[in-house]
Amino acid sequence: MIPFSPPKINQEIIEEITDTLKSGWITTGPKTKLFEKKISEYCGNPSTLCVSSATAGLELILRWFGIGEGDEVIVPAYTYCATANVVVHCGAKPVLADINKDDFCIDVSKLKSLITPNTKVIIPVDIAGYPADYDSIFSLVNEQDVRSKFNAKTQEQKDLGRILILSDAAHSFGAFYKGKRTGVCTDITVFSFHAVKNLTTAEGGAIALNLPEPFENEKLYSFFNIMSLHGQSKDALAKTAGNWRYDVISAGYKANMTDIQASMGLVEIKLYDKETIPRRKEIFDMYSKAFASFSWAKCPLYENDTNTSSYHVYLLRINGIDENMRDDIISRIFKKEVAVNVHFQPLPLLSFYKNLGYKMGDYPVSYSNYACEISLPVYFDLTNNDVETVINAVKTSVEEVLKSV
Ligand SMILES: *Cc1c(COP(=O)(O)O)cnc(C)c1O
Repeated sequence: MIPFSPPKINQEIIEEITDTLKSGWITTGPKTKLFEKKISEYCGNPSTLCVSSATAGLELILRWFGIGEGDEVIVPAYTYCATANVVVHCGAKPVLADINKDDFCIDVSKLKSLITPNTKVIIPVDIAGYPADYDSIFSLVNEQDVRSKFNAKTQEQKDLGRILILSDAAHSFGAFYKGKRTGVCTDITVFSFHAVKNLTTAEGGAIALNLPEPFENEKLYSFFNIMSLHGQSKDALAKTAGNWRYDVISAGYKANMTDIQASMGLVEIKLYDKETIPRRKEIFDMYSKAFASFSWAKCPLYENDTNTSSYHVYLLRINGIDENMRDDIISRIFKKEVAVNVHFQPLPLLSFYKNLGYKMGDYPVSYSNYACEISLPVYFDLTNNDVETVINAVKTSVEEVLKSV
């Protein structure tokens, strides 16, 4: 069986983790702090805080920005549930936007009509590693009528004076938008290092701060560092120098990254541009080259003048099929010993969101892109032979199903 997304574990990772285990310091410590610096160096943003997950990172930011009851946060209908769940956690309302047919990212032309005086944040998602159209989103939130509608309640909202752009870059570490890496394209970017992501620490995430004046990103880093550890004014590392006394400045969260996780991240970030991204790109190119010749295949967009993907998920679409046929194709692919997946079921298809009243029919592009989508395996250890096996399994399965109608 060719698995869908096994993590890449090499000897260097094992040694780095072993070093951490033997060091006597396994929770947040020097390696986490070093990993944060490496992420900021890589992305070019002023300051980065590592956290226990992207979900925790997104929620910390929403809470800091004062998001709560009565507020609205715009998210794409087509994303993993985490993007919207964090809005619900804060007691606010997720407002769903449909997506672009071509790139699966939030459709900026749909946003204006969704903005109300309660809209506080937009969370674009870089689906499959392809960055959303950030310039257009910024132009929109800076339009005079949109700015004057913004009803700032907290000091942070007053200081920003407009809707916050918080990107869910769970898929797009290392991607480029107009020559800039994700991490410096929006006010705040949140990355995920979950086991299936391009760069993994088993579980984990990072908040890349890049806020404009008058915000001080370094100061905010210290604030979020404290808020990710119970609001405790000193973390365990700071207390080792005999400075045992600490204070609690707020009922903070528990969302810190451990040095065990950071050990993996340190090795992975070093190899990221050298090994991970080039291999993933090769696999994307092999798939596209193979499928381009079939009229039933619609290959994903992953590179153009403005965007370079991080090659996270290969979103193949099959022309002229419905959801049932897609599911039939997937079970046939599995029978040929190849694991594939679907990214993602749009939020209105999930019971929780359906029960809140969201209707799939209101997001037609999200539905049609989902209904014919099959995600193919992409990972460092997938060999060229494996890629051939996947291509053949997909091709044969699609043709079997198309023939039967
Ligand atoms: C994986 C994922 C997340 C959540 O990441 P965690 O680190 O598991 O919290 C959020 N958004 C999207 C789009 C994801 O795919």
